[in-house]
Amino acid sequence: MLGLMQNQPLLISSLIEFADRHHGDGEVVSRRVEGDIHRYNWAGVAKRSRQVANALDALHLEFGDRVATLAWNGYRHLELYFGVSGSGRVLHTINPRLHPDQIAWIANHAEDEVLCFDMTFLPIIQAVHSKCSTVKHWVALCDADKLPADTGIPGLMSYEAWIAPHSNTYEWPVFDENTASSMCYTSGTTGNPKAALYSHRSTILHAYAAALPDVMSISARDAILPVVPMFHVNAWGIPYSAALTGAKLVFPGSGMDGKSIYELIEGEGVSYAAGVPTVWQMLLTHMKTGNLKFSTLKRTVIGGSACPPAMIDAFRDDYGVDVLHAWGMTELSPLGTLCTLKNKHLKLPAEEQMKIRLKQGRAIFGIDMKIVDDAGNAQPHDGKAYGDLLVRGPWVVADYYKGEGGNPLVKDANGQSWFPTGDVATIDPDGYMQITDRSKDVIKSGGEWISSIDIENIAVAHPAVLMAACIGIKHPKWDERPIVAVVKKPDAHVTREELLAFYEGKTAKWQIPDDVVFVDSIPLGATGKMLKTKLREQLKDYVLPTL
Ligand code: AMP
Repeated sequence: MLGLMQNQPLLISSLIEFADRHHGDGEVVSRRVEGDIHRYNWAGVAKRSRQVANALDALHLEFGDRVATLAWNGYRHLELYFGVSGSGRVLHTINPRLHPDQIAWIANHAEDEVLCFDMTFLPIIQAVHSKCSTVKHWVALCDADKLPADTGIPGLMSYEAWIAPHSNTYEWPVFDENTASSMCYTSGTTGNPKAALYSHRSTILHAYAAALPDVMSISARDAILPVVPMFHVNAWGIPYSAALTGAKLVFPGSGMDGKSIYELIEGEGVSYAAGVPTVWQMLLTHMKTGNLKFSTLKRTVIGGSACPPAMIDAFRDDYGVDVLHAWGMTELSPLGTLCTLKNKHLKLPAEEQMKIRLKQGRAIFGIDMKIVDDAGNAQPHDGKAYGDLLVRGPWVVADYYKGEGGNPLVKDANGQSWFPTGDVATIDPDGYMQITDRSKDVIKSGGEWISSIDIENIAVAHPAVLMAACIGIKHPKWDERPIVAVVKKPDAHVTREELLAFYEGKTAKWQIPDDVVFVDSIPLGATGKMLKTKLREQLKDYVLPTL
């Protein structure tokens, strides 16, 4: 017997219509690339998203055609989120930090028809536009009078001139909720980038889940600053969850430095921020130097790479801000786990609570996860056994765009399909997952695994250390031994011996790195994560000290 409830497709257009109807006066504030602050509300976003949809119709874009963006977090980007997907086209957010050749490759692979870009990226577009063979329309996200006379880009329009003639009413089409809505390329370590292709259904389910109290806890009372970029996995889905709840959104534009972020948090009464650890490191350094305090910030979600304990401590102890540690992936839309405590943990002493907070967290309803050994056998959830982390769920990829990038799934003995994350993790009896490494970064010494994340966390807890990356170096007896590459804070002093002594008592003796290598910087990838492959290349002539 079937249920007798209404079967309405879950569509992104319903988010913006809801935000308009119920939270029309909810603010959306952006620092523009021009430097000034732009301020309007959800009703304004809805109106202009409909203008975008009409403008796309006028270009005769077909259902399912790709519209690309190369843009910072800002209100025009938000309008494209709703206008493009809502009208049945696919929003393709491109990471501007990629090499220009890769940007052109990705635009061609996605067969983008329209490419909208912030003026910051004009030089990139000037360099690549002739290589982007499918793009028919170029749109600069600026006012008409800000468009330079001769850019060399054929038919370049300003966004404002493009949408201005179009009506702000629009009949959003109704279609299958499994229709593609947006896409994001992820660059593996080998081969070409491959794209996760999200659907309306996966996006809406993820938006519901992300807003839950034990997930990102997003509500109409929040003012959210997503520092996590809209060009990487839809800014962790925050734009959608904000529309669903009517939260105020505050966009930082291109200003990701500590000073700009701090000013925006204070100026706009931000209660909640989200970003990767490297961004928060800059903010904390700025706060410390200026002896500053937060007056409204209560919570921050940190994910994308492991959040060092020193960062959680600094936010909590020095500024009274709660840190939520999150784990996710492009292939997961991106949220998989969030680290919030259970009721029984509230009675634990602070240091015991801290051990839990450091973990990547509990699975969100919708995400099923397990850890397996090399033969695919499920490992116990005892907080000790390590294994490759596998996940499944309605916002996890089933395949990559165009079926390229290999089959992303493995089948278990019960015939269930799982996505292998490439992360190595433990899961404790309460369901808290902790990542020890990317599988390719695991260090195996004398047959035992050493977690590079643990080694890095200890190093960055030292007051003189800004960043640390731990890698394994071949060793004749132990197979591999860890060393740690360290970037010192400006004007800070620490010697190799002092840092090695700092490890004493904080980890097992055999896990203490064999050496500390001081470097000026650690190579970062396009999403701000440490590129250990590059670091290993840089240190290829490095020889372990003879102990
Ligand atoms: P991406 O698809 O570029 O977002 O990268 C996903 C990968 O980032 C994951 O598979 C993890 O290796 C890493 N990652 C994300 N969040 C965390 C976290 N909280 N702790 C450790 N690694 C993380």
